[in-house]
Amino acid sequence: MTAQSDGSIARTEIQGEGQEIAVVGAGIIGVTTAYHLARAGHRVTVIDRAAGPAETCSFANAGIIAVGHAESWAGPDAPRQMLRALAGRDPSVRVSRLLDPALWRWGLGFLRNCSTAAHKRNSDAMLRLARLGRSTLQQMEAELGFPFAQGHDGVVYLYTSARQFAARLQGPIGGETGFAACSADQLTELEPALSAFAGQLQGGLVSNVDSKGDCRSFARQLADWLAREKGVRFRFGCEVAGIERDANRANALLTDQGRIDCAQIVLATGVATPRLLRPLGLRASIYPVKGYSATYPILDPSRIPARPFVDETSLLAVTRLDDRLRVTAIAEFAGHDNRVRPDRLAYLDDYVRRHFKGAVDLDGASHWAGLRPTTPSGRPYLGQLKPVPNIWINAGHGQLGWTMSAGAGLVLANQIAGQASGLGAISEQAGWLNAPQ
Ligand SMILES: Cc1cc2nc3c(=O)[nH]c(=O)nc-3n(C[C@H](O)[C@H](O)[C@H](O)COP(=O)(O)OP(=O)(O)OC[C@H]3O[C@@H](n4cnc5c(N)ncnc54)[C@H](O)[C@@H]3O)c2cc1C
Repeated sequence: MTAQSDGSIARTEIQGEGQEIAVVGAGIIGVTTAYHLARAGHRVTVIDRAAGPAETCSFANAGIIAVGHAESWAGPDAPRQMLRALAGRDPSVRVSRLLDPALWRWGLGFLRNCSTAAHKRNSDAMLRLARLGRSTLQQMEAELGFPFAQGHDGVVYLYTSARQFAARLQGPIGGETGFAACSADQLTELEPALSAFAGQLQGGLVSNVDSKGDCRSFARQLADWLAREKGVRFRFGCEVAGIERDANRANALLTDQGRIDCAQIVLATGVATPRLLRPLGLRASIYPVKGYSATYPILDPSRIPARPFVDETSLLAVTRLDDRLRVTAIAEFAGHDNRVRPDRLAYLDDYVRRHFKGAVDLDGASHWAGLRPTTPSGRPYLGQLKPVPNIWINAGHGQLGWTMSAGAGLVLANQIAGQASGLGAISEQAGWLNAPQ
């Protein structure tokens, strides 16, 4: 099977009855995987310990289908940035649990992915999956009757540092990248509300390959649609504690509500995935990288940019979602601690106060923190567990889970049906994983 120029690939429908498949995890990855499996003809049950869909990392992310940001964090500049972060000199990257052995193991893997060649290989793989994600969401939108997106007008990537902007202009622009370079004046002509950055804005790139949409709201609507139209069962408040297996076959999920028999299992469990794999003797390197968001009621829409923008100098993403403004930032290495720290939020609130004071209700903000399931390479673990071939994994999408979700679910559903994706190597590599091609 070959991928099309827009990144799309054909969907496979299986012949006959389909199988009983349990998807563990009802974040955006689990729900979109359930969609593709149910559409292919399988009988699907989605199990989650939370009270509903998208209650953890998919809850209040930046909402950008960020094809233009499909780039591995591990790259030639990353070690220097990590040293700055360790020295406490970078407000957007924080290391709060330095002595965490899992962080050191993950960090070594990260360093192995920092060469120019590895960065290009990983970023290309992420881009292929991101493109597939966006085109698949567009196809789904036509079928579902409700939108995933609140806008397809792209994203502004802006710079307040002349040096950074000049360096970025040396990188890929135009053609297939979908990026156009703009001066500060051109940016404010396109988005008059960016005049809030007057005197600081050095220029930026505008992409036409990105969209925006509320990830949680889409996941919830999709779950309702799946239950109603495809008979998918959802079991919330149900924690999977382990997997019962014979030598090379899983028979059932062991949950706090009893055994659940299943022919196939998909783990879409985000940052919790390594804990479920460990009793099977398998090690997945997925570190929980904490990010924060603040969502403000909009008071004056004329002063808020319609397109999302990423401030590449201060490393924040800003998205208008209906009558709310969401600002997200920070990569914090704090293990599984997902508490919202007031000092981190101050970074977001200060930014909004400086640029959008009076345009949003600062006192009405809702604050949130989520744990990005992040692999050293930036590629998710996708595929079949070699030692237990009726268990599949779709986890570790890091900063791009909303973007990649529908594509990753499609690739996995096709692999379960025995179909290649034609996208080449897109998964994080592991000796125990039979990854899709
Ligand atoms: C600040 C921030 C901004 C972001 N912005 C963007 C963005 O603009 N665009 C983008 O593409 N991505 C973005 N992301 C990344 C994106 O949100 C994540 O990659 C994505 O939500 C991960 O989805 P998931 O389904 O894998 O994980 P989750 O949403 O965490 O879902 C995993 C589910 O598994 C369940 N689970 C785990 N273990 C068990 C168990 N043992 N039993 C039962 N249930 C279990 C959990 O309860 C949870 O519901 C952002 C992330 C953050 C933190």
